[in-house]
Amino acid sequence: AVSIRGVDKYFGDFHVLKNINLEIKENEFFSILGPSGCGKTTLLRIIAGLEDVDSGDVLLDGKSIVHLPPNKRPVNTIFQNYALFPHLTVYENIAFPLRLKKLPEHEIKERVGWLLNLVRLEEHAKKKPHQLSGGQKQRVSLARALANEPRVLLLDEPVSALDAKLRQELLIELDNLHDKVGITFIYVTHDQAEAISISDHVAVMNNGEVVQYGTPFEIYESPANSFVATFIGETN
Ligand code: ATP
Repeated sequence: AVSIRGVDKYFGDFHVLKNINLEIKENEFFSILGPSGCGKTTLLRIIAGLEDVDSGDVLLDGKSIVHLPPNKRPVNTIFQNYALFPHLTVYENIAFPLRLKKLPEHEIKERVGWLLNLVRLEEHAKKKPHQLSGGQKQRVSLARALANEPRVLLLDEPVSALDAKLRQELLIELDNLHDKVGITFIYVTHDQAEAISISDHVAVMNNGEVVQYGTPFEIYESPANSFVATFIGETN
């Protein structure tokens, strides 16, 4: 489980995260939901180790990880722009983190094969990223992020660059993937319908604060304040 305890973060004078406390359960699909600029990405970057905290702590299974560099945390991140290596094939993009770990070739082959099957891209293994659709590229980045067998996968608006139909498809894909791999997903989105449809628990943020935490049903049925009620009631 991931625990966020009393996290504060400033950018200069700007108080971007204000005393954030969250408990994210083992293997759950957890969403951080809120309007643009509320601090979601900053919180995700803190969990990933890409930003320091000014105070507070982040724990994984009760152990503090805030002082670990990003590559020492059992956490991987997927960003909006998927950041695939353009000159490498799909296969080699997914194999890349395993080659860095210097795994033997037969293990790499087996693991990449499993991942290609998981995201249904076997027949595209030899293609380069520019020969793929947006949804396919995003599935390659998912497979690559899972290659190292992280305990936690952080997803920063991974579907927002896609059109509505593809977004819907990829959400279903993510849900299936989450069921199959059995790890914790922390999903950042500004889209309330997405968060409500896919999550076990949701933290709603506004202006650097968590304004409500609960199941999608709880948040939908009893919004904590008028901000949550209005935000959840909006349709995109
Ligand atoms: P979005 O949905 O638009 O990505 P967000 O909720 O993820 O928004 P953040 O990216 O966490 O929001 O940014 C929160 C606030 O902090 C914004 O006002 C942003 O301008 C500011 N901010 C983010 N990174 C920095 C930085 N490195 N230096 C200064 N200000 C920053």
